[in-house]
Amino acid sequence: MGKFKAIVVPEKGQPAALGEFDESSLMDGDVTVAVEYSTVNYKDGLAITGKAPVVRRFPMIPGIDFAGKVESSSHPDFKAGDSVVLNGWGTGETHLGAYGAKSRVKGDWLVKLPEGMTSREAMAVGTAGYTAMLCVIALEKYGVKPADGPIVVTGAAGGVGSVAIAVLSKLGYQVAASTGRASEADYLKSLGASEIIDRAELSNPAKPLAKERFAGGIDSVGSHTLANVLSMTKYGGAVAACGLAAGMDLPASVAPFILRGVSLLGVDSVMCPKPRRQEAWKRLASDLDRKKLEAMTTEIPLEGVFELAPKILAGQVRGRTVVKIG
Ligand code: NDP
Repeated sequence: MGKFKAIVVPEKGQPAALGEFDESSLMDGDVTVAVEYSTVNYKDGLAITGKAPVVRRFPMIPGIDFAGKVESSSHPDFKAGDSVVLNGWGTGETHLGAYGAKSRVKGDWLVKLPEGMTSREAMAVGTAGYTAMLCVIALEKYGVKPADGPIVVTGAAGGVGSVAIAVLSKLGYQVAASTGRASEADYLKSLGASEIIDRAELSNPAKPLAKERFAGGIDSVGSHTLANVLSMTKYGGAVAACGLAAGMDLPASVAPFILRGVSLLGVDSVMCPKPRRQEAWKRLASDLDRKKLEAMTTEIPLEGVFELAPKILAGQVRGRTVVKIG
């Protein structure tokens, strides 16, 4: 057993640093994966900067998602050479994570990469994009259809937002993109947004009910933004909520629920059951334009994570960032 390059948080309160990790210290699991790519999600930004107690086991290799090739497996569903993707399940939080060349995990956590999708593409999607797909599926299952009217996507220029716009537009939905970065209007239109909304329009305290504008929404911002989106959702519509970029609170009234029959659909990616993950990855393979995915993606080396972490927390990162590991 040897050592491999990894970012490690040695102890509680100590900063993350690039170093070497002993393979013999990997945690229990029935599949060992040679990690090829990871990514930088909002939660990774929190873990690397230590701004929130994301890391709950020490030492920890942060990184909540990876794609790579199975090196060895005693799990019946996986064999050496299989291409796999992992999102969540506590990796980078309670289980050694993605910012290292090797990871040992439970096979039950892994999803086989859809045919024709590379590990780099899978991480360009990342947890943000897979969550965006879960949100789209939630709206579809609820019954929101393209003919019902526009879908608002908040935090539009971020990771969840960018993938949500690209998928929704490919499925024929009209998309209203809410962003604080007017300079990204052309980028958002190139992904498929037909309307750009200044996020300031959605960030003041919400009225119980506002003019009905949207058939549905995908919200990664929370707080007043989600409250405003709910108040602007048309009769019988639904909003999929997955994020808290502006805050964890929800200063809303029950008016949209009880007077317009609006529904709030909660979306979690971390503990999401495997069949739903498999469905989301299959749909990402068919319903996300790979050229648009490439256009929203930037690649950095492992050490680049340190510079990027505070930027993602400050809302300064556009689209998705893949981290080349192996
Ligand atoms: P990003 O940082 O890439 O995107 C977040 C976007 O939100 C920013 O780009 C910005 O968009 C907007 N934003 C940031 N700060 C504010 C603010 N104060 N007020 C209003 N808008 C703001 O993050 P991700 O897309 O990766 O993640 C988005 C959220 O979703 C995070 O809160 C994350 O924790 C959550 N998440 C949840 C998951 C789950 O399982 N439920 C899984 C993945 C992510 P713009 O510049 O366009 O305004």
